[in-house]
Parts: sequence; structure tokens; C-alpha cells
Amino acid sequence: MTTPIAAKPLATAPPPAATGRPTVSPNERPAGTATSNHNVISYSEVHVDGPYIAMTFDDGPNEKLTPELLDILKARHIHATFFVVGQNAERFPQILERAVREGHEIGNHSWSHPAFAKMSESAVRRELQKTDDAIRAATGHSPVLLRPPYGSITAHQKQWIHADFGYDIILWDVDPLDWKRPGPSVVMNRIVKETHPGSIILSHDIHPGTIAAMPETLDRLQAEGFKFVTVSELITMAKPGSAKESHAAGSTVSPTPIPPGFAFPTPVPSASPGLTKP
Ligand SMILES: [Zn+2]
Repeated sequence: MTTPIAAKPLATAPPPAATGRPTVSPNERPAGTATSNHNVISYSEVHVDGPYIAMTFDDGPNEKLTPELLDILKARHIHATFFVVGQNAERFPQILERAVREGHEIGNHSWSHPAFAKMSESAVRRELQKTDDAIRAATGHSPVLLRPPYGSITAHQKQWIHADFGYDIILWDVDPLDWKRPGPSVVMNRIVKETHPGSIILSHDIHPGTIAAMPETLDRLQAEGFKFVTVSELITMAKPGSAKESHAAGSTVSPTPIPPGFAFPTPVPSASPGLTKP
């Protein structure tokens, strides 16, 4: 259910940039932000005072679809967050460069899309570092966010990854299951129905149906009064002391199954859809 938001006061929340550069540089958290919620390192949603939401796109960049999506976002002055797979980032650095130039945020989504929870620390570290290097080479900045593939990550991994890489761990609370390719209208209806203030919406910019769903999805969310910000911007808006840590903290297996037809190794069987709101 979408929470009514029209009457929400906006006074205490910083406004997102309407156009052009965002108020927060896409890949650089302002000093002080980390300390305000420094005990919270993992988010599936963010408790905010205004109608702010973060649209996220995983697994790209895709040579054809991601530029199409960037056009759709640009036409609506919407900033999103792209959790890129490192081997794709290395292959299409110009798409990342464009995304950052147009105000979007880039996050780390591993190099080859494995499930972290059962991997060695050294193997996870290699996945993260290679991708961090590829993102920095393409955009000039290291990312500050990690979305673990399939949401698969242990509590211990969250701690050392945050300590060593400085990443916040970003999960999601709205999942349209677009990797099942249910058709654009289903993707749109799921997102519009489930989104509420502070939502982090999961989707994938490697599926044509997801891109086809976006114009109307974004238009409907904007018509309902939602304001799109990057994930880092959303975190800066977290109400002190009330930021919601991921309900999946400590989980070892993701609820998100493998998209069919993928070449990614190490499939993780589908678990319960328990990652979202209680
Ligand atoms: Zn993924």
C-alpha cells in the first residue's frame, strides 16, 4: 500500500536538486553524515520525514538498455542509483561516466555477481576491490555503497566490509520481481503499490520489460508526490536515531533468486520473501 504523502511536512528534510547537480555529490557523502547514523551500516529502507524514495537499478550497465533508461530519467529530472557489476562497468565505462555526469549514484554490486555469504573473506575482497577500481576508473570516484548480489551477506561480512571499504550495505524494501520478466504493467503496478516514503526500490536495467515499465512507473510515482533521490541522499535524510537497519541483518541467504538465463555463477535457491517490511 502506498502511504498518503500529500500532507507530509517537508520542512525538516533537505530538498532534492530539481535539476542539474544534486545537493549531494553522487559518490561523496558529506562529512558528518556517517557519524549521524554511524551505528547503522545496512539499510532496506530509510525513515525520512518527506516523500523521498530511491530508485535503484542492478546488474548493468547494459550497452543498449542503460542509455535508454538514462534518457527516461533525464527527461524527468530524476536521479537514481545504479548498482553495477564490475565486469560490465569495466566494459562500458562511458555509460557510468554519463550516469554520474547526469547526477546518478554508482554503487558496487560485485565483480561477477556471486553470493557472498558462503565465500571466503579474500574472495569477497577481490570481488569488491576489482569493482571499486573499475568504478573509480570510469567516474573518478570510489563508490560508498554496496548491494550484495541476491542480498546474500553475513553480519560479519557487513562489519568488515563497512570497516575496510567504507561501504554502507544497501538492500531494498520494494521488489517488483522484474527479473522474472512479468511484463511492464506488472512491474509498474507492483512498484506503485508497494512504495512508501523512504523506500529503496529494487529493479534491474538489464531487462527490456523493466525499462519499458519505467516511464509510466516514474510518472505515476511523481504524480503521487514522491521525490526521487539517490540512496546516499536518502541516507542523509534519515531521522536521527530512527534509521531502520535492515531486517535481514545477520541473514546468510538472499530471498532474491537468480534471474533466469544469466551467466552468473553460484546460484542461490530462492528462500522466503522475508527481506521486506514485517
Ligand atoms: Zn544483481
